[in-house]
Amino acid sequence: MTKHVGVIPELDGRGLKEADMGMITLARQKDTHLFALVLDGSDETLKEKLSSYGVSTLVDIRLAGDLQHNPEVRAKAVIGAVKKFGISAVFGLSTARGKDLLPRIAALLESPLVMDCFNVDLEANIAETSRYSGKTLAKIKVTGPVPIFGIRPNAKEPVREPVSAKIIQFDAGAIASTQLRVVKTGETGKGSKISLAEAEIIISGGRGMKNGENFTQLFQCAEKLNAAVGASRVAVDSGWVPYALQVGQTGEKVSPKVYIACGISGSIQHFAGMKTSGMVIAINLDTAAPIMSNCDYYAVADALEVVPELTKLLEKSACVT
Ligand SMILES: Cc1cc2nc3c(=O)[nH]c(=O)nc-3n(C[C@H](O)[C@H](O)[C@H](O)COP(=O)(O)OP(=O)(O)OC[C@H]3O[C@@H](n4cnc5c(N)ncnc54)[C@H](O)[C@@H]3O)c2cc1C
Repeated sequence: MTKHVGVIPELDGRGLKEADMGMITLARQKDTHLFALVLDGSDETLKEKLSSYGVSTLVDIRLAGDLQHNPEVRAKAVIGAVKKFGISAVFGLSTARGKDLLPRIAALLESPLVMDCFNVDLEANIAETSRYSGKTLAKIKVTGPVPIFGIRPNAKEPVREPVSAKIIQFDAGAIASTQLRVVKTGETGKGSKISLAEAEIIISGGRGMKNGENFTQLFQCAEKLNAAVGASRVAVDSGWVPYALQVGQTGEKVSPKVYIACGISGSIQHFAGMKTSGMVIAINLDTAAPIMSNCDYYAVADALEVVPELTKLLEKSACVT
């Protein structure tokens, strides 16, 4: 029997993100009918894009304007659509927004929830994620109605599979705003324009960057690389950058295509957050640092010299192209 599966794309200003497409690719399995549950406005262009990744129905969920940012209201609106369309499993992203929304949906539906999944087998109802600082792979069997899966961004390479699609408008109705009132939304502190969790390239700094000012070098380089800036816990605890940039066991778990570690030793706890990166490049003065034997390429060099040089080279190559 065909399973109705809901996917919740997180649109940014430019529409569907790479991480959304990977998440949808993972949700598209044998005998599934994909419903995209869209909370932030939809149009024909979005429908075309979603349908090229196998989404057959775009549910345009209508919410009252001033309640748009209220995560509790958004969760209830998604639940309305889940019930209306007989959806039996929901996929979203394990991003800051996903971590705000998906557990609320699971709690209200009394459904099982697995966050930070790499893989999901809908037939067996098994989600794969990591445990013990990434040392073990956990296969979690979920039981109960409408399991909710938060997918680690970039865990799956997007693969196209065009289908024909339709848009259905779904009026979520009057949802009472409960105890939660959103006063203001905005970015927190210094960060890069690209979300850390979803970046294809990350350039991270640790104790070897010496101070917060030197992180400016990483931000400048990141801009040329179209990358996000990350940090080790030492850099965060020293107050050089905000916690939102921390990569690791107690920070963000990332899977970029390229991870550049500058002045980071490569502790177990740091690896727990970036070991699923495609390619790891280390810049470190110490050949005995653990990261040097756990990377694809390394430079035995002073990061404070290499990073500005790299930025200059990228600037030059941008002028040539
Ligand atoms: C429960 C727990 C949770 C934790 N969670 C996290 C986490 O989420 N993320 C995290 O990162 N850590 C975490 N930690 C901390 C972790 O154990 C390490 O202390 C931390 O990762 C080390 O950060 P670092 O690599 O920047 O510093 P260090 O280990 O001090 O390494 C600095 C590196 O910089 C190199 N270096 C120095 N100067 C230069 C230079 N000029 N150029 C190039 N290289 C240079 C040195 O050779 C050294 O290898 C956690 C620890 C615990 C106990």
